[in-house]
Amino acid sequence: MAHILIIEDERPIAQSIAYTLKREGFDVTIATDGAEGLRLAQGPLIPSLIILDLMLPSMGGLEICRAVRQQQRAWIPIIMLTAKAEEIDRVIGLEIGADDYLTKPFSMRELVARVKATLRRPAAEAQPEPVLAYHGVEVDLTRHSASVDGAPLELSPKEFDLLALLLRQHGRAMSREEILRQVWGEEGLYRDPHTVDVHVRWLREKIERNPAAPARILTIRGVGYKFAE
Ligand code: CA
Repeated sequence: MAHILIIEDERPIAQSIAYTLKREGFDVTIATDGAEGLRLAQGPLIPSLIILDLMLPSMGGLEICRAVRQQQRAWIPIIMLTAKAEEIDRVIGLEIGADDYLTKPFSMRELVARVKATLRRPAAEAQPEPVLAYHGVEVDLTRHSASVDGAPLELSPKEFDLLALLLRQHGRAMSREEILRQVWGEEGLYRDPHTVDVHVRWLREKIERNPAAPARILTIRGVGYKFAE
């Protein structure tokens, strides 16, 4: 399933994009702050596509675009959102490497069409991401697949992201709040931290030999969770 990162500070716009894309079957994460958006773009969930607003607090869209293009994940397609028609010239003129752009206001139908068209294009130089494998659990970030003791795992998008995060940070205890922010993005700020407990429980049922006595995802008292070292 394609995972789409929306970096847009106007919350109503971000939410209506998220709502539309979820309805189309996409997995969606929102960031309303530029720096937070870039962090998520570099995080454990690799976005299949980024919808990026040009004008953002703390770090602008151009800067984010440039940063993404200079990294291992330079292949991630970016659709730029601009407020005024004249900004388009800037986006194109600067050759910052956005794949497409939409001028506000745009229809959700147009957005969906652009997203699908962009995702259909072959990713130019997709760099394979490392396969994470610890204690019999394997997550292939490029293929978006996971297995336990060699058997394929059926995971929901958030279970997959959570497992990828835990594996990537294996041996390090993470708080529920940190996990919420990494996996749920902006939405995580408004989520009950127990959301994490629920997802950990579901994951344990799928990857632990004995979910009642977990040996892979460990509970760290007073902190949160960690994947066994
Ligand atoms: Ca904006």
